[in-house]
Amino acid sequence: MSREPQPVGHARLGATDLEVPQLAFGASPLGKTFRDVSLAEGGMALSAALDLGVNLIDVAPFYGLGLAERRLGELLRDVPRERFLLSTKVGRYGPEIADCDYSAARTRASVEESLRRLRVEHLDLALVHDVEFADLEQVLAEALPALAALKAEGKARYIGVTGLPLALLDRLASAHPIDVVLSYSHYALTDDALAAYLPRFEAGAIGVINASPLVAGHLTQRGAPDWHPAPARFRDACREAAALCRDRGASLERLAVQYATSHDGIPTTLVGTANAENLRDLVRWLLEPLDEELLEDVLAVLAPTHNLTWPQGRPENNFVDPAVVRAELA
Ligand code: NAD
Repeated sequence: MSREPQPVGHARLGATDLEVPQLAFGASPLGKTFRDVSLAEGGMALSAALDLGVNLIDVAPFYGLGLAERRLGELLRDVPRERFLLSTKVGRYGPEIADCDYSAARTRASVEESLRRLRVEHLDLALVHDVEFADLEQVLAEALPALAALKAEGKARYIGVTGLPLALLDRLASAHPIDVVLSYSHYALTDDALAAYLPRFEAGAIGVINASPLVAGHLTQRGAPDWHPAPARFRDACREAAALCRDRGASLERLAVQYATSHDGIPTTLVGTANAENLRDLVRWLLEPLDEELLEDVLAVLAPTHNLTWPQGRPENNFVDPAVVRAELA
């Protein structure tokens, strides 16, 4: 078995002309969202990523309140623009609903600010961030039309939406022309709800980005940060899965990333790390065989909380019970 990671493969993102890597670089850790990360450490992780073909980079003004974007701008300064694809977001500028602004004017200003912080002339993807925090009518009447105008001006090549409740992404995708949806924590060992939506997104020629294969750290030995809103029983089930792997001398992180990147209908999965060694491990694991027996046992531990999601954002936008999601699709 090769110990050196091999460059990742690429696939087309929906009907766009973007060839996206199987594993993509989530830049939220550059904003110190998980721990104190230095610019140098983040830079080494980013270089390792680009060297291995992990060339889709996702960020947002929300991550470190501008810090992640500013740092990326610095780190990418001397990297030829054609070596990376850049995705950033609009609408969410803090943890609370009151921090969000999905108006047309703020959307335009936000993209201009991101372009300046990132030191680029255009974005590859501009996404409405965490739509469950928004008034959906405003997203449809203001944020998305503003992004569509920026696309027409060449400032963003493609546009889309992100958020936790899949039903919301689906609803917006059928109500306004978009190119991409970014879903997170819904295709991982804990949750496969995204799979049921893939035919619908495919029928609408919408590219799907999956994020959080480690569910923000729940599927790691370190665990998730305290601020994460998942319910206690979800956290406990993940801790149990981590203990099972530890007892067997197996890597939960490896199993989790192998599983999350294994669906043929999902071209790319965003993972967050500011550690070059972790990044190389993640890429190396992609080509290693998945331990089917371990998978079965870990899925059994996680079965009681399978597809359990959590409320966030506006109460009217929450679809907490996965049965509701299934009912909507039926
Ligand atoms: P993740 O599943 O990538 O988990 C990140 C955690 O896993 C961090 O604590 C990291 O240190 C740890 N980790 C990573 N690689 C590891 C390894 N090899 N060994 C041990 N631990 C490791 O979840 P995430 O950070 O929530 O998501 C990744 C990216 O997806 C984000 O940076 C962001 O770009 C994107 N994302 C977007 C949205 C949105 O738009 N609404 C939501 C979630 C995530």
